[in-house]
Amino acid sequence: MSRLSAGWVALAVVSIAIGAQAQTAAPRPPQKFEALARDILSELIAINSTHARGTTVAAKAVAARALAAGFPPADVAVLAPNDHPEAGNVVVRLRGRTSDRPVLYICHLDVVEARREDWTFDPFRLTEQEGWLYGRGTIDMKGQDAAVLASLIRLKQEGVAPAHDIIAAFTADEEAGGDANGVAWLVKEHRDLVNAALVVNPDGGEAALKQGRKLYIAVQTSEKMFLTFSLETTDKGGHSSRPTADNPIYRLASGLDRLAKLRFPVHLTETTRLYFERRAGIERGQSQSDMRAILRVPPEPGAVERLSSVVETNIQLRTTCTTTMIDGGHAENALPQRARATVQCRVIPGESVDSVAAAIRAAVADPKIVVSVLTPARPAPDSPPAPAILTMVEGVTHSMWPGVAVLPEMSPGASDSIYTRAAGLPSYGIDGMFDDLDDARAHGRDERIGATAFAEELEFTYRLMRAMSEAR
Ligand SMILES: [Zn+2]
Repeated sequence: MSRLSAGWVALAVVSIAIGAQAQTAAPRPPQKFEALARDILSELIAINSTHARGTTVAAKAVAARALAAGFPPADVAVLAPNDHPEAGNVVVRLRGRTSDRPVLYICHLDVVEARREDWTFDPFRLTEQEGWLYGRGTIDMKGQDAAVLASLIRLKQEGVAPAHDIIAAFTADEEAGGDANGVAWLVKEHRDLVNAALVVNPDGGEAALKQGRKLYIAVQTSEKMFLTFSLETTDKGGHSSRPTADNPIYRLASGLDRLAKLRFPVHLTETTRLYFERRAGIERGQSQSDMRAILRVPPEPGAVERLSSVVETNIQLRTTCTTTMIDGGHAENALPQRARATVQCRVIPGESVDSVAAAIRAAVADPKIVVSVLTPARPAPDSPPAPAILTMVEGVTHSMWPGVAVLPEMSPGASDSIYTRAAGLPSYGIDGMFDDLDDARAHGRDERIGATAFAEELEFTYRLMRAMSEAR
């Protein structure tokens, strides 16, 4: 047996031990509500709510469930913009003992396209196999939609009157397209319906599982800013039989080669500092000491190097830009007149568009390559990683899964929380549906969630909803 395989055996024993420990049964909701949630999930999966089809049918299904469960019609509103009747939203309100300072849940109903021929199962039918629930949207985010709706119904039917109103907005157009984003529209046109002291967005949260071990619950308090540039260079062109030194494709390629080496400086925020501090607590060995070493001022250079070489930590340390598209030329037998690249950036909150553009221009180092903004940024402030919020999430998490860490997180991608944050509502991405970090299937084929993970998510959502509405 080689040393490598001996190591593997040892590792396997450890993961089995940890896996078994993680599987000690966590609380689940009463059977009746688990069955209800499964039923809702099945109904939502069966409604194709891709961008092409829209979300109005799904929004009406959610409304019908709420009405059937005893919510008064005045507290269930189905709404769509006049110019986008297919982009329906539904807002459900559970009345609290006082109506001030509600908590708002935002949950998107739309899903990414899925083709039957790419999948093992019908993506628009909930299929259970070997402990997994398959279907488009199970993890992003009809599973969470079902959990939020079932928890609201459970509170209602148990006769619980929370301290403050709990509002759940099930919305349109979070995924591809986004020309009728439900959260943006509701905040702008129906602020009274969704006004809240606090927003929870399960889509932004993360419950991380690695090798069967529940690692952490990440509370998203911040997200990187989406910003895209165009890099373009032109020339007069001519016949390809008479090549010149000034070929725009070569010029652009050389500029991109220099851009590939651009590394933005380390920029830690309140959220990412706390993230690394807490993440270090669940790491071991080198990565644990590296995470502590980058928190020093100035950060330790060796630790910066090692953490920068891993995608997952690199994106937490700095702004990143990468080339995503390229095109140029207009005929097989012509010198190109134009070459253009699309450069997509994810910017650490607080950095300016101008500073990112300046860094790109400096790296490209060619004034004939024109750098301009293609998709402008939508700046949104961070929500503070407030101890009160983190402690509350920790309380609920530990009541479910003792020992699981809770960390604040800046997500590298975008969520609907940018709209609520931009509107001045502190927003937190929180979710308890544990998903394997090494097997991410959101937007992909055979999207699935564990049946047990789903059942536990239901109970977590219910407990968090109660805690959120009581705490202030
Ligand atoms: Zn999503």
